[in-house]
Amino acid sequence: MSESPARVAVVTGAARGIGAATAVRLAADGFAVAVLDLDEASTAGTVQAIEAAGGRALAVGADVGDAGQVQAAVDRVAAELGPPVVLVNNAGVTRDNLLFKMTDADWDLVMTVHLRGSFLMTRACQKHMVDAGWGRIVNLSSTSALGNRGQANYATAKAGLQGFTKTLAIELGRFGVTANAIAPGFIQTEMTKATAERIGRNWEEYVAERAAAIPVARAGVPEDIAHTVSFFVSEGAGFVSGQVVYVAGGPRT
Ligand code: NAP
Repeated sequence: MSESPARVAVVTGAARGIGAATAVRLAADGFAVAVLDLDEASTAGTVQAIEAAGGRALAVGADVGDAGQVQAAVDRVAAELGPPVVLVNNAGVTRDNLLFKMTDADWDLVMTVHLRGSFLMTRACQKHMVDAGWGRIVNLSSTSALGNRGQANYATAKAGLQGFTKTLAIELGRFGVTANAIAPGFIQTEMTKATAERIGRNWEEYVAERAAAIPVARAGVPEDIAHTVSFFVSEGAGFVSGQVVYVAGGPRT
């Protein structure tokens, strides 16, 4: 008897950080994973980690904000791995500044990557989910959606993703597709390292200070988020849709 092929997941921004940990986790859960990032070569480490553990991965280079690149990437995933029925919209950037110093370009880039990127990726993948009568969409929001000094652009995009998620849940539910959002708090990645650097803080001191304000008394790691993605994507989570889970070691830190 031949084994049925693995279901296919796409994780954006999966070269490093939360996306890389999520790609590795979904592969361990049995998915064939398209490891998508801006530069295909940058995904090599994630792809190797998946393959070394016996999983199946495909390196894909695409800018999620570019409609042509997104469609080409999703078409390639469908042709080479199979129809994508899981999508994790994780690719992200920050361009932090106080409102009066924020440039048009800072605003536009953050909206393009988080909002337009998630829209384009989801629109391209949903067809495969609807055809399969099964799908899982997970969007990366943030505790910044509740408001965060210096992040008018990012907080707006992350709040927008919550509305996007709830609308997807309403439109796609009848096709067996769920959509949920994860709002991480402070997670140790290159993104938060860059923030520490920008404000002139020593990384270890910065992590310790942030951890001290978190109810569970530690900073988050990418695997904390990957674990929650794994839950939303699981078969048993089919009645959970349109939800936002704050994964922050407390309500909002
Ligand atoms: P990260 O380490 O900076 O990784 C983000 C990845 O996204 C990078 O590999 C980046 O590629 C890629 N990317 C950026 N723009 C892209 C585009 N247009 N198309 C495709 N890929 C693109 O970030 P992270 O900390 O793991 O964060 C992952 C997600 O979680 C983001 O959505 C972030 O906003 C969210 N989040 C993070 C935290 C946290 O504390 N770390 C908290 C809340 C929410 P390049 O390196 O080439 O730019």
